[in-house]
Amino acid sequence: MNQIFDTIVALATPPTKSALAIIRLSGPQAFAIFSTIFSKDLTKETERGVHLGNIMDGDELIDQAIVILYVRPKSFTGEDLLEIMIHGSPLIAQQVIEILLAKGARSASAGEFSSRAYLNQKIDLIQAEAIQDVIAATTTDAKRLSLLSLTGKTSDMLAPLRTKIADLLSLIEVNIDYPEYEDTGVANTKQVFDACQDMLVMLETLIQNGEKGRIIKEGIKLAIIGKPNVGKSSLLNALINEEKAIVTDIAGTTRDIVEAELNIQGVLIKILDTAGIRQSDQLVEQIGIQKSFASVQAADIVLYVIDATTQEKIEDDVLNKLLTTKKVIQVYNKKDLLTNQQNLPGITISAKQKDITALLNAITKQLGLEEANYFTPSFNNMRQLGALKNIKNHLRKAQEDAKAGLTMDLISSSLQLAYEEVIVLLGLQGKADISAEIFSRFCVGK
Ligand code: GDP
Repeated sequence: MNQIFDTIVALATPPTKSALAIIRLSGPQAFAIFSTIFSKDLTKETERGVHLGNIMDGDELIDQAIVILYVRPKSFTGEDLLEIMIHGSPLIAQQVIEILLAKGARSASAGEFSSRAYLNQKIDLIQAEAIQDVIAATTTDAKRLSLLSLTGKTSDMLAPLRTKIADLLSLIEVNIDYPEYEDTGVANTKQVFDACQDMLVMLETLIQNGEKGRIIKEGIKLAIIGKPNVGKSSLLNALINEEKAIVTDIAGTTRDIVEAELNIQGVLIKILDTAGIRQSDQLVEQIGIQKSFASVQAADIVLYVIDATTQEKIEDDVLNKLLTTKKVIQVYNKKDLLTNQQNLPGITISAKQKDITALLNAITKQLGLEEANYFTPSFNNMRQLGALKNIKNHLRKAQEDAKAGLTMDLISSSLQLAYEEVIVLLGLQGKADISAEIFSRFCVGK
């Protein structure tokens, strides 16, 4: 289904001096509009091709250009599309765009070419999201994962699940609506239960891979917390191997959050060094402590630093409750001051002596990444993971209802919701009505 739109134009390369600049023009009038300013008539073209010619504004030569012409639907946007290569001068680019606007094109808004590709079903929503991710990727690992999504490999991973839900729904629906139809088996609750179990296992793998993919793509936040003077700033400095945070033996020195970045296994680790947590009547310190709480809340992993010589912990009920909901690594610091090697319930390090290998290993273990995670397509943004979790909840409900022996009608409504969520995840508009899919499987009504 091709939708009718106006014709949009935008510069596709950065607006700086360079060898070449590319302007994209897409929409039903693309060839007609461009032909009014080009030395060749492109309106009769029926095949993709490359054209050399002059861009004119009346009698004035604006630039010589090479134009790649794509005939719909075989283009990125699914529409007639021109990629106009001109000399890389921001002035020329601006002139050409202004003329095209005057001839009837409209300035494209951010992401509009990709959104047309999506609306014209050239790409699904997962692929559209991946375009942004490929451009934004800051590590080669992140870029590789995003490219897997862009080429459709991530969306393909959903196919077995989609088929399985549709199979089950088909069987149930046909049983309900056409009990006399003999070609199909009879759906029973055990069968539904088992099928849901298989699908829940599939989903769990997808969710776990997605969460790992998200770590590779977006990195994680790591908060360093502890009482004053336990060595938090020293640890931050040891982790990044530079003197970023101020180290003193005056308690309460770090009052704001100090941020730094570290790369472990290709994962961007954003470290938040926080104010030491203790009771304080000083306003600035209190604000710092409040910010520490917020950092813990935002963190994926919390390094809870304890002075190994005193082993004193933070006495704060609110914080301790918050920590129970987090991945926490207990770090006993200043091990160089210990006279005898005690068995402490956590990692022992000396931040001052930069003896932190045990901690780096513990962080690596918490990331839980395996070689395969860097190469496996995954649903790795919040929206995609949220949708997978919704599918899981609907399937779990269907499974529970099957176990409780509820009617197939009720069970099927949860399966229907699961199916709809798969469609939402892929962003396939107008495909949530499963009836066509069901009836394509059976010769009902023959
Ligand atoms: P923070 O308040 O928790 O950030 O602690 P700092 O990093 O500012 O350190 C407080 C004091 O403890 C400083 O005098 C540091 O030199 C000292 N310190 C930090 N780590 C170690 C360590 O591993 N061993 C020893 N002996 N002293 C340390």
